[in-house]
Amino acid sequence: MRLRFAPSPTGYLHVGGARTALFNWLYARRMDGKFILRIEDTDLQRSTKEYEQAILDALRWCGLDWDEGPDVGGPYGPYRQSERTKAGIYSEYAKKLVEMGRAYYTVYDKIDKKKELLRTFEFPKDYVDQGHDVTITFKVQKGKTKFYDLLKGELEFDNSTIEDFVMIKSDGFPTYNFAVVIDDHLMRITHVFRGEDHVSNTPKQIMIYEALGWDIPQFMHIPLILGFDRTPLSKRHGATSVEHFRRIGILSRGLMNYLALLGWSVGEEEIFDVKEKVKHFNPSTISNKGVIFDPSKLEWVNGKHMRLMNIEELLEEFNDWISFAGKKMPQVERPYMLRVVQVCREKVNTLAQLYDFAYPFFFDDYSFEEQFVSEYLLSPFAEELLKKAIDMFISLEDWSVAGTERVCRDLAGLGIASKNKVFQTLRGAVTGRLVTPGLFETLSILGKQKTTERLTRALE
Ligand code: GLU
Repeated sequence: MRLRFAPSPTGYLHVGGARTALFNWLYARRMDGKFILRIEDTDLQRSTKEYEQAILDALRWCGLDWDEGPDVGGPYGPYRQSERTKAGIYSEYAKKLVEMGRAYYTVYDKIDKKKELLRTFEFPKDYVDQGHDVTITFKVQKGKTKFYDLLKGELEFDNSTIEDFVMIKSDGFPTYNFAVVIDDHLMRITHVFRGEDHVSNTPKQIMIYEALGWDIPQFMHIPLILGFDRTPLSKRHGATSVEHFRRIGILSRGLMNYLALLGWSVGEEEIFDVKEKVKHFNPSTISNKGVIFDPSKLEWVNGKHMRLMNIEELLEEFNDWISFAGKKMPQVERPYMLRVVQVCREKVNTLAQLYDFAYPFFFDDYSFEEQFVSEYLLSPFAEELLKKAIDMFISLEDWSVAGTERVCRDLAGLGIASKNKVFQTLRGAVTGRLVTPGLFETLSILGKQKTTERLTRALE
């Protein structure tokens, strides 16, 4: 079995595209088949190398590895439609269809490009020499076109609703509907899983398969991902690219888990490693209804992964993210870093939140929150409390969590302020904030030097 993902490099990889790629990938892996990446870059105005690179990077980050593609090659290459155009692959089949009487040349005036001058089965050499625009157009025959869709069942279209359509544009490049058929056939694709927005293209593609006498692959059109207003998820709903979610600190495993959950259920389980579900993947169990993309559910799923995963792995993801997002980070010892990540991951759902939450553990330049200053730092008890705290922490030898807890409780027992006020003042003084990991844990991680320096700084 051979499946493919065929993005057009006209933008970043949309989460809907990633989900389509995921379903193709899952089925290819499940069936021990091949997963092929093909770049559909025949729209010269909108396709760029940068987007192609970004899409490859995003797919790789998603963990959706491919067996054949523009970067790795393969037996049915090239895997970029622009290269296939230059190799004459599409024009060969277009000419064949003209010879068979199934397509014709259309000549348009070189000045008034909308004005049709001629339709002919003969190559219009004179017109070409005069610089007019020539396309090759598929001739739609009377009758009906049917195909079977894995999710939607048998679909039938009356050909009278479909107009003759261009296969080769005047710039010599193929249209999507033509190139996709030639490529899927030549690349021996057996299953085409793609977005529902392509259902109306499929009868045109079937006509080409039939005209050329080729086998038709198995189609499955996947319902689109929708925004909260139930219209297809687009930029109007906010950022939609895989890149964006990577940047805000969603883990690849979190995103893949969430995208798999959208429209495919593996039973009751909500949090899983998609790679471990390959054996359970059955495309016909995908929901046939549009599914709503809920970024807060994605974050929730991601947070679960952050807490469940191995801490060393999370640290690795965090470090990768820091360099991807271009965040600053001081040199810190690995055991320190591990402890910080361990305590902070309990309270956050993304790597960006982790970075912000952990900030006072890495940097001294944190600022004091308004509320801490007004409610605690400027209170009459603060000075006395902080002075006492400095004294006691300076003489503390045991910086374990139990050790710092003892000092905190002793300070609260002095009667300078309520226990809550004492704890919040200490917390704010050493982190600038009122919400942090556990106070004793925080002090224990910061250690004697940082704690006393920071308490002193708060006094100033
Ligand atoms: N290049 C098309 C797209 O990005 C591919 C559609 C298909 O899978 O046939 O929508």
